[in-house]
Amino acid sequence: MTEIDRFEDVPNEPGRYVYRIKSTGHSSARLGGCEVCGEHVTEVFLQVEGLTFDNDGELAITYADCRDLFGHRGCLLEGRKLQ
Ligand SMILES: [Zn+2]
Repeated sequence: MTEIDRFEDVPNEPGRYVYRIKSTGHSSARLGGCEVCGEHVTEVFLQVEGLTFDNDGELAITYADCRDLFGHRGCLLEGRKLQ
C-alpha cells in the first residue's frame, strides 16, 4: 500500500486536496475540544489532509500547507476544501 492509497476518493489529477479520517477512540476529555467548533466531543476523529502532485509522471501526496484536525466527524467533513 502506498501513501496515496491511504486516502479516500483520490482524483487522478495533481493539485487536489484529499482526505482520510478515523476515530481516535477517545473523547475530548482526553484530547481537548473540537478544533473546528470548540465544543466537547464524545468520539474524537482525526482527519488528515493531503495534496496530490505530479511526481515525474506519477501521482503522489504532499503534506505541505496541509492541516490535520481533531474534532467531530461532521465538523471535519464540512471543513474539507472543495475540489
Ligand atoms: Zn465540532
